[in-house]
Amino acid sequence: MERPDIETCAACKLGPPDWDYTCRNCLRDFTMPAAKGPSEEKCRACPVCHSRNIERMNIAPSEANCAPGG
Ligand SMILES: [Zn+2]
Repeated sequence: MERPDIETCAACKLGPPDWDYTCRNCLRDFTMPAAKGPSEEKCRACPVCHSRNIERMNIAPSEANCAPGG
């Protein structure tokens, strides 16, 4: 059930935004849920080759879509 009195964007409905990563070892792109902290992010590795040589790409502009005032 949707509440017409509450403005929500697509990103808000989906919850925490996913983060896009690129593995520098096998050059694959993959997505993971947003880390809860820097320590969690450090433990992350490529799901394909399990290398930790991964780079987080730009976060989805969900926050920009949630700007107050529309
Ligand atoms: Zn990899």
